[in-house]
Amino acid sequence: MNGEKLKKDGDDKSTDSMLAKAKIKGRCKAMYDCIVAGAGPAGSAAATRLSKAGLKVLVLEKQTLPRYKACAGAVSGRAASMISIDLPQVTEDVIKQVNVDWASQDVAPIEYISETPIAYLVMRSEFDSLLAQQAATSGALIHDGEHVESLRLNAEDVEVKTNFSIYRARTAIGADGALGVMARQSDLHIPKSSGIALEIEAEVTGDQMDQWRSTALVSYGGPRHGYAWLFPKANHLSMGIGDLAPRPQNLVDKFRTFTDALNVTWRHQDLKAHPIPLAGITRCFCRPRLLLAGDAAGLCDPLSGEGIAYAIQSGLLAAETILKACTTGDFSMGDYQSAIETNINSQLKIARQLAALLYAFPGAFFRLFRTNTDTLAWYFDAVKGERNYGDVLDLVKATLKPQALFGRGQRPERGEISP
Ligand SMILES: Cc1cc2nc3c(=O)[nH]c(=O)nc-3n(C[C@H](O)[C@H](O)[C@H](O)COP(=O)(O)OP(=O)(O)OC[C@H]3O[C@@H](n4cnc5c(N)ncnc54)[C@H](O)[C@@H]3O)c2cc1C
Repeated sequence: MNGEKLKKDGDDKSTDSMLAKAKIKGRCKAMYDCIVAGAGPAGSAAATRLSKAGLKVLVLEKQTLPRYKACAGAVSGRAASMISIDLPQVTEDVIKQVNVDWASQDVAPIEYISETPIAYLVMRSEFDSLLAQQAATSGALIHDGEHVESLRLNAEDVEVKTNFSIYRARTAIGADGALGVMARQSDLHIPKSSGIALEIEAEVTGDQMDQWRSTALVSYGGPRHGYAWLFPKANHLSMGIGDLAPRPQNLVDKFRTFTDALNVTWRHQDLKAHPIPLAGITRCFCRPRLLLAGDAAGLCDPLSGEGIAYAIQSGLLAAETILKACTTGDFSMGDYQSAIETNINSQLKIARQLAALLYAFPGAFFRLFRTNTDTLAWYFDAVKGERNYGDVLDLVKATLKPQALFGRGQRPERGEISP
């Protein structure tokens, strides 16, 4: 699909598949500059940049576009600043208020109000299609409905085998998400480094919709290392729960408690679950000729679970690395490791420290957020891309004295909430 209209759900799959096979037969001898696995934000951002620079790019996407992706669909101000699509076209609501709540505590939520947008709420099917369309318009060839089965890294090229054909390229980007094959095939996958999140798209009454316009709810204290959320879309609420640590417990029950309190009903089959691969650990993001981006590289924020911004940013960094490699002829890709470490992972290592503190001492943080509104404001400034996590950690350390964590002379249970 090069510059063609994206296929819609409900298209005749068998015809699609025959057409795709016919198309591919004629193409499998072609040599690409880059094969991108996955047309999520990471893959499409990379493909757009590379194609605009004149490189020959093939994007292989397992699903037929537009495709559903389990996601709250909050495109942070930081993520929005990195893309040049018509975001308002797919924006369902703009968040300027976040209510921060603490489960099982009979106290009013903290209401944080921002003058500028904190996040733009989208349905990922629409948002990702727009990004893929931009890549196609820039010149990338997009084969949706075709999945990568295996990968071989040779000295002179990369071979990618799909359910239809074998393709060769000078380089490849693994942007095939948390469950993709590129990281596993290249021994770059880190097992047990993911959290998990569940989500529903909830149909609610008009009054319930009105209650949440432009306002998100984030509720801590349910999962031990995470939170439940409510994000309003145009005609429904996206609600979910995430535990940002391996082996979460009773997540479905905790989600039920959260939704019951808000009078939202759902059936078990409405739940969509997906891993959240967490960054902030030391790991390898590339091999010669191969770069991992986005969730495939494990680049979600261990404090918030945000991943769209880091997917786009790493996709763009991967594209820059490949452009340089194609110019110099040096395909070792070592620059990418340091680019990700400096621009993304170093920040997310700080997020990991903040997460360790927040989820170990939620009560102390609740008191802190109430008494020192700067801490929440600085955190949301980081979400908007106006401040970095280093600033937030410095403020938290300066404000959160040991006695606030442990009380005077007594140490609460880890995880205890005592506002
Ligand atoms: C419930 C939930 C809520 C979330 N909410 C938010 C949020 O509000 N804001 C935020 O910033 N982040 C959120 N995240 C994280 C965010 O969804 C991801 O970080 C983001 O989608 C990563 O983008 P990506 O391009 O790396 O991968 P993906 O968006 O996962 O895209 C990968 C693509 O690769 C394709 N693919 C997979 N395997 C293959 C294969 N073998 N061959 C070819 N293609 C393949 C997939 O079909 C998919 O289209 C949430 C995650 C979850 C689970």
